[in-house]
Amino acid sequence: MKDYMIRAVAANNQIRAFAITSKHLVEQARVYHNTSPVITAALGRLLTGAAMMGMMMKGEKDLLTLQIKCGGAAKGMTVTADSQGNVKGYPQVPDVMLPPNAKGKLDVGGALGPGILSVIKDMGMKEPYVGQVALQTSEIAEDMTYYFATSEQVPSAVGLGVLMNKDNTVKQAGGFVIQLMPFTEDAVVEALEKKVAEVTSVTDLLEQGATPETLLEQVLGEFGIEITEKIPTSYHCDCSRERVTKALISIGVKDIQEMIEEQEPVEVNCQFCDKQYVFTPDDLKSLLEHSRK
Ligand SMILES: [Zn+2]
Repeated sequence: MKDYMIRAVAANNQIRAFAITSKHLVEQARVYHNTSPVITAALGRLLTGAAMMGMMMKGEKDLLTLQIKCGGAAKGMTVTADSQGNVKGYPQVPDVMLPPNAKGKLDVGGALGPGILSVIKDMGMKEPYVGQVALQTSEIAEDMTYYFATSEQVPSAVGLGVLMNKDNTVKQAGGFVIQLMPFTEDAVVEALEKKVAEVTSVTDLLEQGATPETLLEQVLGEFGIEITEKIPTSYHCDCSRERVTKALISIGVKDIQEMIEEQEPVEVNCQFCDKQYVFTPDDLKSLLEHSRK
């Protein structure tokens, strides 16, 4: 079964919800970045959350970036998502190793430590929307919940989970976002809070065979849930020689001059998918000539 996401409404549109199964895209991220288990979990949760936030955007060309900068050994990570289920990302430090936390789980909060979550939405306006919140638990789902509440004023419940096999490949990954619209009746809010509190672990539910549909049905079933959209989601990098060239130009003429003087080809790796682009000294010379025009 490939990864996919669904969108749903419940309680006569007073609730909107998203759910995802993201095992394959998180495993792809792990392979590209050769991440340690705790970083696979951290990056995987961020990719899973970003995919659903991407689905919330309306425009075909809208681009979402989630960036964490933090004081723990992980230092930070960046992911991007579009509105059609394409996500990618990279960790600052892929090989952080930490003992399990007090609950015996991968210590994502410990690896990230205190920090800032930035949400950047490029919706084709002059300036992108930027929202920033302090990390609350650094476990990512709670931090996204806090972001929705404070920056977007949308009460939300977010669940994200990544579970590893013994060989450190990804066994399960997925999550959900449930949001209350401003006109939601108090009775619905109370009943929903009770149902959400019953969900203790997304990975447990996935292990029991939950799908995005059953995940949401479990929480929203009694509210008259209606699934309105289903789209595939995957790890997708759209890098190209042209894009890498632009990045190379941005490092500055002086540095490129030095590379030319060294007379060795320069290898540039895409930070999202590790694809290698090689620039010969002649390539660099013509690049400089073009950038001067
Ligand atoms: Zn790439």
